[in-house]
Amino acid sequence: MSNKAYRFRLYPNQEQQQFLAKCFGCSRFVYNHFLRLTTDVYADGKKNLRYKEWAKLLTSLKKEFEWLKDVNSQALQQTLKDLETAYSRFFKGLAKFPQFKKRSNKQSFRIPQHFSLTEDRKLKLPKMSPIKMVIHREIEGEIKSVTISKTPSGKYYASIVTELDIPKAPLNGEKIGMDLGIKEFAITSKPEKFENPRYFQRSLRRLKIRQRRLSRRVKGSKNRNKARVRVAKIHEKVANQRLDYQHKISLKLTNENQVISCEDLNIKGMVKNRKLSRQISDVAWGQFLTLLEYKGDIYGCEIKPVKRCFPSSKRCSNCGYIKEDLTLKDREWTCPECHVHHDRDINACHNLLQFSDGYIGWEAPKSTPNQTVEMQCIKSVSS
Ligand SMILES: [Zn+2]
Repeated sequence: MSNKAYRFRLYPNQEQQQFLAKCFGCSRFVYNHFLRLTTDVYADGKKNLRYKEWAKLLTSLKKEFEWLKDVNSQALQQTLKDLETAYSRFFKGLAKFPQFKKRSNKQSFRIPQHFSLTEDRKLKLPKMSPIKMVIHREIEGEIKSVTISKTPSGKYYASIVTELDIPKAPLNGEKIGMDLGIKEFAITSKPEKFENPRYFQRSLRRLKIRQRRLSRRVKGSKNRNKARVRVAKIHEKVANQRLDYQHKISLKLTNENQVISCEDLNIKGMVKNRKLSRQISDVAWGQFLTLLEYKGDIYGCEIKPVKRCFPSSKRCSNCGYIKEDLTLKDREWTCPECHVHHDRDINACHNLLQFSDGYIGWEAPKSTPNQTVEMQCIKSVSS
């Protein structure tokens, strides 16, 4: 069984918008309340509260704050589950400590049950009249949950997650090695090169103008809010363009191949580098790898991570000769042993593939390997 996600635009009327604002508010209130409570209790007596305790306390909280009863109770329980997930992600070292939710950021709440699509293709949520929704593609599978969200620019969306059994694509045995970069977004051993569109970079000038205007508006004024929406719209557009581009590439790669070997990037460590952080955020490798995993699961393509310390560039993929004096400036080189001419990046992809297939072994050096990756990136940015 695979999960599939759909995102549809919602058009709530005035009354529905008011009710949704209440739902967002209650969900945010509950999240922040229990986050604060848990940190306070922990600081006091080193006791760790979790979902079970929170759920009990939520009942008494509802007596204190009557208005919490106006919204769907399962949405509030779901908020607590999300908080628990945020905590466990933190303890696994996958995320930062849970942050308080702010009114000015993206708002959302999730409903795990008791919602449906009406016959005229509207979305029916508990305690609300059906909301107009544009279903631009057919929904496949059994609907599991729906998340309602509102972007900072004021657009509403429903994200629907379904579970379905898709027949996997016929096995063609295609395997590729893939390298992610800044100059080119992705390079594969096929060989293929996908350009890096640098969407954020392209909107930077417009964004700067809008941000300057925003900073000049009086706090709390209507004009400031208008300026804020304009800035938010630019960010949203960049994110949409990037997501669209990555959807297309990941779909193509997962449909055409059965195995993709890809370097395991230390993105968090790399973003700390100030010189690089903007460009790395702009290419959004993390989001791309998530999409690959998600689509790989649906279409039957395995994503194999390869340890990043492996010296994929210096090794000749034809005969195994290691060219120690290869510098970052050498985009192409000829192997002195077998005289094969290599494109640097494509050769690296071939090596990644051979490595993940177990043709070649590699023992990691004791030095800090992520630094070398970072240095490579810095040089390829400045060159
Ligand atoms: Zn060679």
